[in-house]
Amino acid sequence: MSQDLYQAPDYFQTDELLTEEHKLIRETTREWVKKSISPIIEDACQKAEFPKQIIKGLAKIGAFGAYIPEEYGGFGLDQISYGLIMQELERGDSGVRSTASVQSSLVMYPIWKYGSEEQRIKFLPKLATGEFIGCFGLTEPGYGSNPGGMVTNIKNMGSHYLLNGAKMWISNAPFADVAVVWAKDDKGRIKGVLVERGVEGFTAPETHNKWSLRASTTGELVFDNVKIHEDNILPNKDGLGAPLECLDSARYGIAWGAIGAAMDCYDTALRYAKERIQFGKPIASFQLQQKKLAEMITEITKAQLLTWRLGVLKNEGRATCAQISMCKRNNVDMALTIAREARQILGAMGITGEYSIMRHMMNLESVITYEGTHDIHLLITGMDITGESAFK
Ligand SMILES: Cc1cc2nc3c(=O)[nH]c(=O)nc-3n(C[C@H](O)[C@H](O)[C@H](O)COP(=O)(O)OP(=O)(O)OC[C@H]3O[C@@H](n4cnc5c(N)ncnc54)[C@H](O)[C@@H]3O)c2cc1C
Repeated sequence: MSQDLYQAPDYFQTDELLTEEHKLIRETTREWVKKSISPIIEDACQKAEFPKQIIKGLAKIGAFGAYIPEEYGGFGLDQISYGLIMQELERGDSGVRSTASVQSSLVMYPIWKYGSEEQRIKFLPKLATGEFIGCFGLTEPGYGSNPGGMVTNIKNMGSHYLLNGAKMWISNAPFADVAVVWAKDDKGRIKGVLVERGVEGFTAPETHNKWSLRASTTGELVFDNVKIHEDNILPNKDGLGAPLECLDSARYGIAWGAIGAAMDCYDTALRYAKERIQFGKPIASFQLQQKKLAEMITEITKAQLLTWRLGVLKNEGRATCAQISMCKRNNVDMALTIAREARQILGAMGITGEYSIMRHMMNLESVITYEGTHDIHLLITGMDITGESAFK
């Protein structure tokens, strides 16, 4: 990739809505992304490899467990700080942000919220430093948008449980040290199960040939009579609400992250449009290109304000699932549209790895599907405002 010249757009001075601490956290992450992600990310994506050398750096900047209390190794930050970290990481690459989202919201969050004190002490500090990497197994081959139908199950054998089933499309699965797996018990109740790498009967093959999120490793989780002890089951919450609450936290992070990807595409396209000469003039002087750029900054500004407000509500414990759905859906769609438009502004150069736009565009095709698809989030808004479910 060419030199990283990124300058974040802030058309409505939304910086004034942030505290000094927020700005410091954002600047630290932004600088780290420039130094540690931009120079290596294109190569990692071309090779379809997660760059494991960034794990320690991610841990240092607070990307693992930003809002988890310090007593468990987390950073004890507020929700806006967490969001800003996700925004800056995704400005670098959605795959990098995905790894941090999964670790924080889908692995550390359920252990912190639903785990026993022993489970918290055993896993959280190691996850916060990156010594352990985690993954979250909810989706199954036959159950994506409808995870409540899952067939993965744990059977009570008296002295232990037996876990059977398979999960697919699981981020970080092939190299995770611990998997938070959702499975039905003998009564059909969904439980969170902590499955550690290396236990007999557990494999995590990698999923190859992705054109999207290539710097994030994806895989399956396969359980064949895996012996689970009581102390590896999360005791403090069960039912579908437990994984859905984790997804709320992750979706909130995605809403911020998508703004980062959009800002990077806009900034790249704006700079290119001012420099690229056709018909003797910068292409930025042509009305059609200005329309694209003007619409981009308008949509980014709207998303910045919407998401900051969601962060305030989340800090106050007042953000609803439906508000998070609306924000995730709006921002990812906005970012994908901007990536497509920005790519056109770069002409043929837009399809190369010299610029980040095509990579963002491909990544966002996953982001618009995972953690609830674009359509499902719309139906959640529909259900919220009408009181009628159109999807279940
Ligand atoms: C790169 C990547 C990483 C992922 N990481 C994880 C992970 O770490 N952990 C995990 O558990 N999962 C993960 N997922 C899975 C992801 O969450 C699912 O792909 C997603 O929930 C959609 O499920 P599906 O792909 O089975 O699509 P389906 O549920 O089969 O949906 C297909 C289409 O039908 C539509 N549809 C479905 N039901 C309805 C309805 N009732 N009304 C209208 N339209 C409907 C959907 O909107 C979609 O457009 C990941 C996916 C990807 C691509």
